[in-house]
Amino acid sequence: MDVKRRKFLKIAGLSAVAGLAAPSAFNNLLNGEAFASNAEHGAEPGKEEGKSTEGHGGHNEESTLFQYGMVIDIKKFAEHKGLAEKCVSACHTEHNVPDFGNPKDEIKWIWVDDYEHGFTGYSQNKSKAGLNELPVLLLCNHCANPPCVRACPTKATFKNEHGVVVMDFHRCIGCRFCMAACPYGARSFNWRNPREQYSNGNYKFYKNGLNPNYPTRMRGVVEKCNFCPERLAVGKLPACVEATGNTKAMVFGNINDPKSEIAQVLSANFTIQRNPAAGTKPSVFYII
Ligand code: SF4
Repeated sequence: MDVKRRKFLKIAGLSAVAGLAAPSAFNNLLNGEAFASNAEHGAEPGKEEGKSTEGHGGHNEESTLFQYGMVIDIKKFAEHKGLAEKCVSACHTEHNVPDFGNPKDEIKWIWVDDYEHGFTGYSQNKSKAGLNELPVLLLCNHCANPPCVRACPTKATFKNEHGVVVMDFHRCIGCRFCMAACPYGARSFNWRNPREQYSNGNYKFYKNGLNPNYPTRMRGVVEKCNFCPERLAVGKLPACVEATGNTKAMVFGNINDPKSEIAQVLSANFTIQRNPAAGTKPSVFYII
């Protein structure tokens, strides 16, 4: 972290301490508006953030009218061996997610875990269903009520007009309040410099080479899944969804549009969300 960033962090820290002495200011930080203003964050002109009173899976008053969401069919991933890893690789290659080669420094936008870790608190008979043997893809849930957004003192993370929780890496001061606020471990912190190169100019940590079309990050910055707005803007699906091909293991779209494929999948299937008791209203649903 360079000197400027350290100074900024110090100021942010002091503000938080001052907030402790002034409860109303502190409460504003914690309970503040999750939606960033369009003007500030460059949303498309003419599009205003709306609030819906309807929606799927507990997306009500906090939801944007347009809410991107994802359905992940765990059984389909079990049928197609290696598919989950293919999704991870597609995402991490697309977004220049560094691989530092050890779990301590791990940066992950989407990752494979087992059912028990992903869905703590669920009481299904896992042994009978064999659920714990199935690979489960986990990622940021793009919560309708995201505590990470409220915790960020610089608005480096915010909800866009499509209900996606995105990041402006340049605004991130590395305070990691967002990481502490996220109940899903969906955010990673760059303890090391991901841009490190060998003497021949090759990057050390971009396993599949550098994607020149996506920005790299610096040491001291938090990162996470962003539902690929850069791909959506040109009519593509998120990289992970595209990697699933025709398997229908992942379905993506506007969950608040009843005519969308995802809304129909959601109404036809029983789905669960990760840790719904946290009250964050995740936009990622799982068919088990
Ligand atoms: Fe924020 Fe975590 Fe929810 Fe993603 S999963 S929106 S990082 S609280």
